[in-house]
Amino acid sequence: MQNITIIGGGLMGSAAAWHLSKRGEHVLLLEQQNEIYEYGSSFGESRIARSLGPKDDIFSYFNNTSVALTRELIDFLNENDTQTHRMTDVYTTSPVTYIYDQVLQEEVNQLLYEEQKDKCEYATSKDGYAKFEMTIPDELTVIREYKEHSGTMHPLTLINKLHKAIYKCKSEILYQRKVLNISPKNDHYIIAIEDTKTGKTTELSTKKIIVAAGVYNGELLKGIEPQIAELITPKRMSLCYFKINKTAYNNYSEREKTRLHNIFPVFDLRGKQFYAMIEYIDVDGLPIFKIGGHRMYNALENVDAAWKTPPTKDEIEWTYNQWLNYLKMNNLPIEKEDTQYIEGRSCVYSLTETSVPLVGHFPLKEQPSDTDAILIGGMSGIGAKGAMCYGFIAANLLMKIENQEFMYQKAKDELGLKRG
Ligand SMILES: Cc1cc2nc3c(=O)[nH]c(=O)nc-3n(C[C@H](O)[C@H](O)[C@H](O)COP(=O)(O)OP(=O)(O)OC[C@H]3O[C@@H](n4cnc5c(N)ncnc54)[C@H](O)[C@@H]3O)c2cc1C
Repeated sequence: MQNITIIGGGLMGSAAAWHLSKRGEHVLLLEQQNEIYEYGSSFGESRIARSLGPKDDIFSYFNNTSVALTRELIDFLNENDTQTHRMTDVYTTSPVTYIYDQVLQEEVNQLLYEEQKDKCEYATSKDGYAKFEMTIPDELTVIREYKEHSGTMHPLTLINKLHKAIYKCKSEILYQRKVLNISPKNDHYIIAIEDTKTGKTTELSTKKIIVAAGVYNGELLKGIEPQIAELITPKRMSLCYFKINKTAYNNYSEREKTRLHNIFPVFDLRGKQFYAMIEYIDVDGLPIFKIGGHRMYNALENVDAAWKTPPTKDEIEWTYNQWLNYLKMNNLPIEKEDTQYIEGRSCVYSLTETSVPLVGHFPLKEQPSDTDAILIGGMSGIGAKGAMCYGFIAANLLMKIENQEFMYQKAKDELGLKRG
């Protein structure tokens, strides 16, 4: 019998598997994809990593704890390894820009409160040019956060490093293993698994289980805990990739190029919540921008089909305009004909009612819930920057390890599965 089995080798399952392996636990991690992660909510080369938040904000805590835990991972990997691992493999530090409508002034005030430890500046229409070289409309406030390791993080690099560390601890990862069913039996769980390469189905027994199957959590657990599917709803959203053409980009001065890099990532908290970041630098040295809208999502019936759905014309148009407007707001000379739409893809994530993710024991219908069964899910569009911390909390819950720190307790309580 396995002691601990984790389902899902995305950011969350991998982080949990590493934290347990580091403590000497033997873990089996099951992932339906092969070693190359090609779809799933963690797909891609960048996610916004940001720390700024109001007093005692759990999301700042998730981000900052994840940075500290990533440093531990890097140190562990560097012990007796021929390859050098660096924090900069995972994090690209750059200013993070937030755009607020002044109707959200209360939120802005909460961010700029006296004890705010994260270094930030803010500007309005009056001093936007002097501070950020921006033309800021009257109704907006712009905040910029400056902190080491805030900017973007690379989800696939983090997954690769976590898997390397899991192997180094002698835990096990099986790829191309799709979990078909989980059923409780006496004091353990039976997991039915399909080897997607051979089509062969097997069963294994495990004493403890962590389910971190991303948007498939609800489906996978519906036999044990139908309420999970009600707590988290899968949503489809589109991502569009753009670039500035070579000639136009090369016409920028070095100073303008630096500014172009420093004004991303950006997160606009109005309406559909436009966000944009540099996803990667292409072979010609041109930045490739990834653009989307956090609130520009649709509910969906068929998750498998959604990954392959291209963005609609309206979605492309909307993201294009948001990006161009933001460049203009920053007084970087650009015309639409100097830019190019490269490609679009859909992504799926699951959302809780409050957008606070779930990390806790299931099933809910039994009280007390099984202390040997943990769900990590409902990560929505904010999970990546806190992944190391969600995995850490899940590992602690499974091993019954407590931490009396105030923020840890607050975070753990808010992540719990009992809602409303
Ligand atoms: C478009 C988009 C933009 C985002 N932007 C940001 C951002 O800027 N900042 C930020 O912090 N976060 C962001 N996020 C959120 C973050 O990327 C996700 O919350 C996070 O990647 C979710 O990780 P996960 O491990 O829960 O899910 P996944 O990465 O989907 O992992 C689940 C894994 O389980 C596997 N699996 C599923 N079912 C089975 C099964 N039956 N058997 C075996 N394996 C199974 C899947 O193949 C997958 O690998 C964004 C997300 C998206 C989609």
